Amino acid sequence: MATASDSRASQQPKTKKQDPVDLRSDTVTRPSEGMREAMASAEVGDDVYGEDPTVNRLQERVARLLGMEAGLFVPSGVMANQLALAVHTQPGDEVIVEATSHIFNYESGAPALLSGIQLRPVEGDRGRLAPGHVAEAMRPEADVAPHTRLVCMENTANKAGGVAGRPARQEAVAEAARSRGLKLHLDGARLWNAAEATGAAPADLAAPFDTAWVALSKGLGAPVGSVLCGPQDTITRARRRRKAFGGGMRQAGVLAAAGRYAIEHHRAGLARDHARAERLARTLAALPAFEVDPQAVDTNIVIFETTDMDAATVVEILENENVLMTVFGPRTVRATTHRDVSGNDLDRTVAVIEEHFE
Ligand SMILES: *Cc1c(COP(=O)(O)O)cnc(C)c1O
Repeated sequence: MATASDSRASQQPKTKKQDPVDLRSDTVTRPSEGMREAMASAEVGDDVYGEDPTVNRLQERVARLLGMEAGLFVPSGVMANQLALAVHTQPGDEVIVEATSHIFNYESGAPALLSGIQLRPVEGDRGRLAPGHVAEAMRPEADVAPHTRLVCMENTANKAGGVAGRPARQEAVAEAARSRGLKLHLDGARLWNAAEATGAAPADLAAPFDTAWVALSKGLGAPVGSVLCGPQDTITRARRRRKAFGGGMRQAGVLAAAGRYAIEHHRAGLARDHARAERLARTLAALPAFEVDPQAVDTNIVIFETTDMDAATVVEILENENVLMTVFGPRTVRATTHRDVSGNDLDRTVAVIEEHFE
């Protein structure tokens, strides 16, 4: 006898509607088969007691990859950033960030809400700071001025178009900060992509920073999680704060196993994602309806301008063809490649774009 769910399944149409090509974000990926197997067989314990061996191994592995002493598995990138802000600052302090940064634009006002600090956004070049920005934004020592405490950088710079920061420039900014007694934090949500694009090791890209984190749930395709890394004493304090922020997880090894699998098996796919983003950019650049510089596409994010249509109209036309992108401004659209966008998916995307916007 068929169960209710069986009968529902049998009512599904034979030819399923074509899956959309989902270029909205690299967070939409589904766990791969091997990843699901790794999750199912993960050895686990209670991580609030520090007893989950899979979490502990993941933390050690990522810390080593970033050239740091210790790591902390956290549920999200926002939590990694907010823990870093919390451990590096006191209420009333000021933190220098780039104006397009995730911390400034997309974290729900958390720096003020959770740590009682204020941000000092400065406009960089394609999301990147230069040493002069630190000198300019640094507050003087005075009763009336907030204490400047920390500089945050982002690699890759998401909102600027996945721009990859290079070690020499980052080190120069870090030196300007350190010489003024400031700490440095790296939002490395897509540090794996930056490493792929620049050829630098993740540890070299993280070297100038006191704390740095990487996401497992973006290009690497794990369902959940990021790892914040830094010196042992800083991570010990972050761990306590993670509990206070509600981020203490129990048998989190099931999730850490997915992250570990992603690091070992999915990093190799990033080069392919970057090549597909570049191909998409070249397709768009060839059409008068759009403006984009394919040379400026370093990694897996393509941000392009529309010349005479609203971005919302373009996104709607594409959506009707089952190709999904994100409205990023009145005349700006973002497309992001990832491991669930196949070569065929990209062919389809290119064909749809050429058909509608030639
Ligand atoms: C996605 C992202 C974050 C936040 O990560 P979540 O896991 O979504 O909380 C932070 N910084 C950058 C640059 C990001 O792209």
